[in-house]
Amino acid sequence: MKRLLLLATGGTIAGCSDDCATLNDYTAGVLGGDALMAAVPQLQDLVTISVQQVANVDSADLLFAHWRALVGRIRDAFAADPDLAGVVITHGTNTLEETAWLLQLLIDDPRPVVLVGAMRPATALSADGPLNLLQAVQVALSSEARGHGVLVVMDGQIHGAQRVTKVATQGVGAFASPGSGPLGWVDDFGVHLPTAHGSRQVPFAGLALPEQWPQVPIVYGCVEPEPLILTACLNAGVGGLVFTGTGAGQLSAAERSALQAWPGERPLMLQANRCGSGPVHKNPHDQRLGLLPAGSLNPQKARVLLLLALLAGWNSDQLIALITASL
Ligand code: ASP
Repeated sequence: MKRLLLLATGGTIAGCSDDCATLNDYTAGVLGGDALMAAVPQLQDLVTISVQQVANVDSADLLFAHWRALVGRIRDAFAADPDLAGVVITHGTNTLEETAWLLQLLIDDPRPVVLVGAMRPATALSADGPLNLLQAVQVALSSEARGHGVLVVMDGQIHGAQRVTKVATQGVGAFASPGSGPLGWVDDFGVHLPTAHGSRQVPFAGLALPEQWPQVPIVYGCVEPEPLILTACLNAGVGGLVFTGTGAGQLSAAERSALQAWPGERPLMLQANRCGSGPVHKNPHDQRLGLLPAGSLNPQKARVLLLLALLAGWNSDQLIALITASL
């Protein structure tokens, strides 16, 4: 029988409430990975799964230390066991896309790494976690998933780590990949994914993650923004910053002046947008202020990329080269 590693981190998929009719009032991250598996007896005929509990938290409370542990466990497991078929990670849905993208940038192995969560707690009527978990395992075991990088399986859809994002606060179909759609789907008839061609670029494959990570805040543009937020971040000596502009990443005049007036050295800064889809392109005026375009990455994924670039000691030319070539 094939073997998988299941890394459990918590979230609603492991959440519990006293009332099965309650979908919103529950505690996330209560059940362990073994209990999640026990709710899907069909797994026993399919695969041998070893479970490691990396955390049991609401994904809003994930820490860089959890990310570091996840990356270490995956790298170790793949290195130690050439016959391991893949890895499944149970995760809260709120920040699942950030973890997926982090792993996509760091894990260099063609074997599937699949993240899965649930929108309803494990105790709910019609909880979606068990079926999502079964389908995530089916994807992780499939030859079709090989070479696709890190995948997210929710509600029968298979998404790629770069585009996937949570787009709804309620309902089981809360994930989408704006601009491209899901990569495929999984159903009774199998895993439907196009064959992955060529080798995938893994920009931070060899990066060892330290304990201490830089501060990288996200500043959000709006009508009559408070430019003090930008100045306060710069004054605080942040390692990097993601500016989320309006439209295609635009700054207000007040924010532009705040950046222009900043007397110190500017940290690495990425310019994302708040539209939900579409790129931010190179703009010479904004680049003079130190803002580099985040391409099609949403602000939270731009932040993940910037964190890793800072940890790797990249300069702006290296960052721009990666973004313009592939993001
Ligand atoms: N609060 C939960 C979390 O992100 C939401 C979920 O898992 O759906 O951990």
